[in-house]
Amino acid sequence: MEDSAITDLFAKCKEDGGYFGPWRVKGDNYFTQPILEGPAGPHMIFQGKEVLIWSLNSYLGLTGNAEIKEAVQETLNEYSTGSPMGSRMLTGNTPQHIALEERFADYMGKEAAMIWNYGYMGVLGVVAALVGEGDTVIVDALSHASIFDAAFLCRGERKVFKHNDVAHLDDRLRRIRENNSDGGILVVTEGVYGMTGDLAPLPEICEVKDKYGARFFIDDAHGFGIMGENGVGVAEHQGCQDKVDLHFGTFAKGFAAIGGVTAGRKDVIDYIRYNARTNLFAKSTPMVYVTAIGKALEIMIREPERRARMWEITHRLQDGLREVGFDLGNTGSPVTPVYVPAGDVETGMGMIKILREEYGIFVSGVMYPVVPKGVILFRLIPTAAHSEEDVDRTIDAFSKMGKKMGVI
Ligand code: PMP
Repeated sequence: MEDSAITDLFAKCKEDGGYFGPWRVKGDNYFTQPILEGPAGPHMIFQGKEVLIWSLNSYLGLTGNAEIKEAVQETLNEYSTGSPMGSRMLTGNTPQHIALEERFADYMGKEAAMIWNYGYMGVLGVVAALVGEGDTVIVDALSHASIFDAAFLCRGERKVFKHNDVAHLDDRLRRIRENNSDGGILVVTEGVYGMTGDLAPLPEICEVKDKYGARFFIDDAHGFGIMGENGVGVAEHQGCQDKVDLHFGTFAKGFAAIGGVTAGRKDVIDYIRYNARTNLFAKSTPMVYVTAIGKALEIMIREPERRARMWEITHRLQDGLREVGFDLGNTGSPVTPVYVPAGDVETGMGMIKILREEYGIFVSGVMYPVVPKGVILFRLIPTAAHSEEDVDRTIDAFSKMGKKMGVI
């Protein structure tokens, strides 16, 4: 074959296509992959200057927690960073991993739980293990990338229903059953939608899935540790935790660690444990994280005032931003989206720049593929570690920036 007829697989890497292509080819580190220095928390260093940060998901302010540090230090001294070695199936299972899973099962009100070393791998693992040939997975249209990737990875049929539209879900499920599918069905939604902050209508979804003999898996990454009286999640908040078949949370947000957990019926969790390739073929969670996650769980149960504080900061921030004229959409959670009018990229970049350069306030812009094409928003995450002063300074800066940019 002539050379000219051959496409070099790497040719695309010089072009500005692909996700965030124009920023990638410019070698951008301002809007994409900004470089932050210092321990994660509300105040960090960006381009040599201290900034007030609203982009970290550490809702309960547990990053840098002294008790967690101390516990991890002890584990580090005993186990170093590598233990245990191997997957859970072979040599990576320990009494500490099992005990942690039992504590999560108890916290989440389910028979059993299993932990994952990344939340992403948990979502992939659950869906791909359960949804086989002849089965169907149906997901909310605004679902996180991990849910869509999980649907692509599994061997079943894939369907999508309109965001939070239970009537559309009902219609889809009815058609699946009418088209002679008697296979299993898994409905997957988020609990809190991580970019827009709105909540899934879980009791209604539970009713519909029961009507068609489907099962329901909630990816509650942004609700876990945060929503509900005990922080169990959105289903606790909406009074239907017992109706949810599989409940998933990540440790990368409220728990300020890394990893995830899925809880449900014991036989189902055992099946997932033995069949999820992201569990079978990946190393077990390191012991230092088993300790960190266990300590974070202990603190969040013992100190509900952290959640109360996070809500105070949330209400002050959301009320203030609305009062000065910003559109926060439909959020029902601490996730605080500030929509950029008409989804204009230039306007969005201008807004970010003014906030960072003139007011020392660091917010992240979110655009496709994180949100649908044509939408741009700033996603602010209020945490228990922010102060009233941080909030007031931010509202003042947003107000001045909004007027200068002519967006409020
Ligand atoms: N699901 C949702 C809804 C998420 O927001 C995230 C994290 N951004 C994940 C899954 C992946 O979790 P992790 O970061 O723990 O891999």
